[in-house]
Amino acid sequence: MSRRPLGPRPGIGYGHLVSTTPGAFVTKREWIIHPIPVERPEQGRLDRKVECATCGRELSMRVSSLEAARRRRQIWQVLAASGAAVAVLCGLLALVAGDGPGAALSLLGAAVGAVFALNVFMRSRLEDGVVMRRPTLTRMHGHMLRWPPQN
Ligand SMILES: [Zn+2]
Repeated sequence: MSRRPLGPRPGIGYGHLVSTTPGAFVTKREWIIHPIPVERPEQGRLDRKVECATCGRELSMRVSSLEAARRRRQIWQVLAASGAAVAVLCGLLALVAGDGPGAALSLLGAAVGAVFALNVFMRSRLEDGVVMRRPTLTRMHGHMLRWPPQN
């Protein structure tokens, strides 16, 4: 699932969680995905309340202007790149440090950097200039930002 170009309306939608099936390794979640019926503002950000089309629960969304959305994507990219750079740097340090206590520390740094970069990368894939404001940032009682399936 790759990034999609930014448009005048958010391309990303919100998902309503339909079912959760615990599996051996991953929990399978099924979502009904609805579009976000909000135009991007000319400038800055816009807070809008959206009623979930499935359950009617009120969701608060903050939609950014095209320019702000573009900036947000850039910031995520820089963050992911920094994390990856830290991971590589610490990995190299670990090689140089040999068997000393510095090596363990460097390996730890590499692991932390890699995990950070991966997390940021996963989050950045959902960046379309839209933020769910309530009740939580990422998961709102079975709701979260999702890309609609591509036709
Ligand atoms: Zn819902």
